[in-house]
Amino acid sequence: DLWQARGHVRFDGVTFGYGDDRVILPDFSLDIPAGQTVALVGTTGAGKSTLAKLVSRFYDPTIGTVSLDGVDLRNLHPKDLRRAIVMVTQEAYLFSGTVADNIALGKPDATMEQIRAAARAVGADAFIQRLPDGYDTDVNKRGGRVSAGQRQLISFARAFLADPAVLILDEATASLDIPSERAIQEALQTLLADRTAIIIAHRLSTVAIADRVLVMEHGRIIEDDTPDEL
Ligand code: ATP
Ligand code: MG
Repeated sequence: DLWQARGHVRFDGVTFGYGDDRVILPDFSLDIPAGQTVALVGTTGAGKSTLAKLVSRFYDPTIGTVSLDGVDLRNLHPKDLRRAIVMVTQEAYLFSGTVADNIALGKPDATMEQIRAAARAVGADAFIQRLPDGYDTDVNKRGGRVSAGQRQLISFARAFLADPAVLILDEATASLDIPSERAIQEALQTLLADRTAIIIAHRLSTVAIADRVLVMEHGRIIEDDTPDEL
């Protein structure tokens, strides 16, 4: 029987440091209702990626708890956790293998039809079909070269197929041309629907589509507002 998370994420009195004496998050609390899209912004070193890593359980808090639907992440079965919370980082957009392998990464039993449906949902199907071997194109081979924007779309298709209750996205900083930028924004809206999303946002257009914008500084939230109030 599969546990179905709703996606309510909560930090309760979390203190965290990386093992040196520096505290990165000091007594940090945050409540993200299921389904909310949160854009996280702030200066470099503020603790945005650290927060994301605590939600995806790369690390556990030193003090306090991070919970999903009221359950301490430490008490969740790793399999349930991996299914419920997916993090998309800019370093890990693509792995060696075919485009199809890359989309099916979190769901190895996916059928070709499901893979294509996910690609279609995020607007990636058309360019994939134009690659030398379509979905069988090796992304590392000559001719299989895909652009930065296309890489992001493939990783979005992967996340869409995995369909987690909570999506964490560390948005790429690389600038894209305008058509790619537009394609990414449209794909994002589809990807964010019906799930909780925490996006470390670098684009103003992403901040604009969020329900809530958190500004971080030195491990604290200094502003918590809707995009139009900022
Ligand atoms: P950026 O916008 O540059 O990505 P950020 O807000 O994501 O910054 P974090 O990566 O969370 O910031 O880093 C917060 C602090 O934690 C920084 O001072 C950083 O040097 C430190 N830090 C991050 N990762 C580690 C680590 N693995 N070991 C030790 N310190 C770390
Ligand atoms: Mg970061």
